[in-house]
Amino acid sequence: MKNILLLGATGSIGQSVLSVIDQNKDLLNLYAITLDKNISKAEEISKIFSPDYIYINCEKSFSKFNTESKNKASAINGSSDLSNLIFDDNIDIIISAVSGFAGLEATAIAAKTGKTILLANKESIVTAGEIILSSAASSGTTIIPIDSEHNAIFQCLAGEKSTNDVSKIIITASGGPFLDKKLDELKNVTKEEALKHPNWSMGSKISIDSATLVNKCLELIEAKYLFDLDEKFFELVVHPQSIIHSIVTYRDGSSICQMSNPDMRVPIAHALSNERRLNINFNEINFSGLNLSFNDFPEDRKKLENIAREVCNKGHSSGIILNAANEVAVDSFLHDEISFSQIYDVIYRTFDTTTMSNINDIESIYEKDIESRMEAKKVVKSIS
Ligand code: NDP
Ligand code: MG
Repeated sequence: MKNILLLGATGSIGQSVLSVIDQNKDLLNLYAITLDKNISKAEEISKIFSPDYIYINCEKSFSKFNTESKNKASAINGSSDLSNLIFDDNIDIIISAVSGFAGLEATAIAAKTGKTILLANKESIVTAGEIILSSAASSGTTIIPIDSEHNAIFQCLAGEKSTNDVSKIIITASGGPFLDKKLDELKNVTKEEALKHPNWSMGSKISIDSATLVNKCLELIEAKYLFDLDEKFFELVVHPQSIIHSIVTYRDGSSICQMSNPDMRVPIAHALSNERRLNINFNEINFSGLNLSFNDFPEDRKKLENIAREVCNKGHSSGIILNAANEVAVDSFLHDEISFSQIYDVIYRTFDTTTMSNINDIESIYEKDIESRMEAKKVVKSIS
């Protein structure tokens, strides 16, 4: 039996993880969960899975839960409780599925434990890839990606001793809800339209990132760190059907891809499997009459891709600035302060104006994040 700590249990990835655990109760046990505010969902989860611990990040929600809940699990709150929980010897697997930069704290601690991390929170790698990967290497922590493209690459590389024979890796992008639209046609799209992803059901931040294609650029940076390859190996390709999740091409001409219908339970089940693959109820691909298409990453979003490539090459504060600018821009769009196309303006201008600096520890990441958010908010103010 493997004991699981699920960080971000009340979110979209959290729900997919719970579904996989539910179908494999003889092998997987939900030992503890974390969330921010959604205590009613935490109650529901607790009734079904009886975790031993519930970490509630938001102070107010924590107090409310403590006074109102008849739940038997221990509710905990505060940084030292979080750290103690992550290091709890009973835990075998830590699933990092908090959304955004808020996921960094727990992921960075998890990387020091020597346990196995299943990683969905790409923002922690974009902002702290060097530190997290080096902590993981020195503590013996294994990181298995569950972002579908990275899990696909991981599966395509299985059995290969190294990436030395890889000649190219294609990261596929669905193209999001505005697949056939040029950037200048997106000025007046609403948040309801932007949140409506054609293939995947996800949290609001990543849904907007998919609509802007920022998600793919964050994934390029995530891939560079997780597979320790130069950005030149990665190509971004639009594949509207979201059936092929990535392709690895080897120097002998073989290209290996991983395919499934778009359902996050598939990469999660793969990452949770041990000696044997897990059994889950999934919708098999119907290959008869299946048409798959591939297009170039849109020319009018190349500037965004180039910034992501620059982040891969420069490291240090560049990923923190990009991530903070994007998080401020997405939040401002969701609060009707800027239009959809102004998300790009906030990213480009913040990336241009914020000073780059060397980053050697987690504290300086938090400082740079605060500074970059202030710069991004200035841009939002100047254009809204
Ligand atoms: P959601 O917005 O659906 O869920 C976010 C989760 O994080 C919620 O449980 C939320 O709690 C919790 N949370 C937020 N802030 C904190 C905090 N400070 N401490 C503890 N918990 C916190 O996000 P998604 O599930 O969509 O995405 C999660 C991550 O996975 C993101 O990094 C995303 O990029 C990545 N990912 C998601 C995919 C998807 O299909 N959704 C696919 C691939 C990657 P509460 O509910 O209380 O607010
Ligand atoms: Mg993805």
